[in-house]
Amino acid sequence: MYALPPGIAADRLEVTGISCPDCRGVLAVKSEGRDDSLVFECRVQHTYDLAELLAAKEERLEDNFWATITALSELSRLLAELVERGRDHGETAEAVQAYRQRAHQVGEQAQALRDIVGGNRPVDLTRTQPGSSAIG
Ligand SMILES: [Zn+2]
Repeated sequence: MYALPPGIAADRLEVTGISCPDCRGVLAVKSEGRDDSLVFECRVQHTYDLAELLAAKEERLEDNFWATITALSELSRLLAELVERGRDHGETAEAVQAYRQRAHQVGEQAQALRDIVGGNRPVDLTRTQPGSSAIG
């Protein structure tokens, strides 16, 4: 599946393989102006030029990374606390062991994802002109 349709015209919107960063609906694209700049629009008229779309997609990616890190961290902490309390609250030794293993696993996953986010390098839109041939 493509992200951009093969034939982008000035006079009509073509469906893309990209979702709207605001509502997650389908985006369509057309070209506009003398330089055939890309303009994206969803069903409810969220509209982006290419730089805006790239920035919004990067922001959505960052938000999703942090939501996942938060979910993993919360689960790891909850399981660790259940391990601490488990034996005094009727948990079996097998359950406590399973909580301990899973807490360790999701803790490692949260850290791995933090490392990925720390190394994430979005496109620097201050140094490029998306959609143009003049790449700085
Ligand atoms: Zn939208």
